[in-house]
Amino acid sequence: MNMDVIVSLCKRRGFIFQSSEIYGGTGSCWDYGPLGVELKNNIKRAWWRDFVQQRDDMVGLDASILMHAMVWKASGHVDHFTDPMVDCRECKHRFRADQIDEMPWTHFCAATKGNKFTIPAGEPCGHCGARRTLCPDCGKGDLTAPRQFNLMFKTFMGPVEEDAAVTYLRPETAQGIFVNFDNVLQSMRKKLPFGIAQIGKAFRNEITPGHFIFRVRELEQMEVEYFVNPHERVEGRPADEHAHDRWIEACLAWYIRYGIDAQHLKLHEHGRDELSHYSKRTVDLLYDFPIGWSELMGIANRTDFDLKQHAQASGKTLTYFDEERKEHVVPYVIEPSFGVERAFLAFMLDAYREEEVRGDKRVVLRFQHELAPTKIAVLPLLKKRPEIVATAQGVRATLARDWSTVYDDTAGIGRLYRRQDEVGTPYCVTVDVQTVGDSATGESGDQCVTIRERDSMEQVRVPIPELPGLFRDLLGDRSWSDAVARYPRAKP
Ligand code: ATP
Repeated sequence: MNMDVIVSLCKRRGFIFQSSEIYGGTGSCWDYGPLGVELKNNIKRAWWRDFVQQRDDMVGLDASILMHAMVWKASGHVDHFTDPMVDCRECKHRFRADQIDEMPWTHFCAATKGNKFTIPAGEPCGHCGARRTLCPDCGKGDLTAPRQFNLMFKTFMGPVEEDAAVTYLRPETAQGIFVNFDNVLQSMRKKLPFGIAQIGKAFRNEITPGHFIFRVRELEQMEVEYFVNPHERVEGRPADEHAHDRWIEACLAWYIRYGIDAQHLKLHEHGRDELSHYSKRTVDLLYDFPIGWSELMGIANRTDFDLKQHAQASGKTLTYFDEERKEHVVPYVIEPSFGVERAFLAFMLDAYREEEVRGDKRVVLRFQHELAPTKIAVLPLLKKRPEIVATAQGVRATLARDWSTVYDDTAGIGRLYRRQDEVGTPYCVTVDVQTVGDSATGESGDQCVTIRERDSMEQVRVPIPELPGLFRDLLGDRSWSDAVARYPRAKP
């Protein structure tokens, strides 16, 4: 699957636009259009409901983006949140030193009179056996030695740009949770194990952003910090290790529940050299993106590192009193960290299908219903008949009380269906002459409309008053074939 197809669909159909496009665009910044904002909100809403609302061991938080500068010193971000950066002395392109061998490289091969080849990542030249030493893009320039580059965006709090006023845009939402650990513990009287969840923006001055919304500088995270008592054992294992496995399963199941094919997901266990300084174990969930298998999200065991660091730097006690053992403990933390952009991209990619219908190509986004930006499109068959328009508008207004619903009369019905398929709308409702009748001939209407289902393209005829009840079933957990069994089929 080609990323360009999704990028183009996103722009054409109002999901994602380049930020500040009329000024030539801002690198790696994207704006979510009318349908994009709905999809993004649906992802976040489903996540919050599943991981916060429905669990009695979870609570939410919305911490501020600007925090005390000491937070980032204590957390290790000032000293360690860096990537090694190298530059090409010739073409001036910039690379992450740790990723440079993961990209194909350009080679002018002396053994073949200087012919130019593009060689797969990490492989030597098949003709001369040389390995890459120069710039992988231009194949000519020397690379500078790696320099550590801190990814945090620095800014100043207040009107004076002086060292004392320096602060940072948060590079992760997690720290807002750690510094509020005791506030939540005291105010909510939670017992271990419990988790605090947060959805919010984070900022990373990435050296090589790109691949559409895969790597951006302004991102959104959905994070959980799940606190467990490290002295407890569950099913014969330390509680943190047990909880870590449960969270890995829960995260995997969540993506599958919302439509991702299990075959497009796999786990990656971090090796010793990959682990962050705070981590006991980290498992990434990878998705088969068009750029290859890449991180969709990460689930880390952060141990007691963060709470201890903040306790030491702030002088405050950040412990939990274990009533049973009569001891104060610093909880261990399991952190499932979801990126909203990567979830958005994976849901788009997995939903995308090109099908052939009666000799024509049909593009359809088979979104899981809850994620679909628009649930129902109401389409009048003839926009010049006032009774049809009035009935269709009335149906739209009724359904819009409960679901995101659009009215569209800007093309013929075939075109309108294709348009809704392409943005993943699960149901279309069509109002036609049969619905309203014909006052000129005195013919009365049947007050029924046609409902069309996106994936099967089947259609049934349903009385207007029954629409809210039927959609409650269809957009709830009843299948199409079951819910519409008692209605007559309509011809497509
Ligand atoms: P990567 O190795 O891809 O840079 P990371 O390991 O630094 O990612 P984490 O710090 O674990 O990422 O962040 C958790 C999640 O936040 C990631 O799995 C991803 O979904 C999301 N994320 C992180 N950085 C970005 C970014 N620059 N753009 C989009 N999403 C991001």
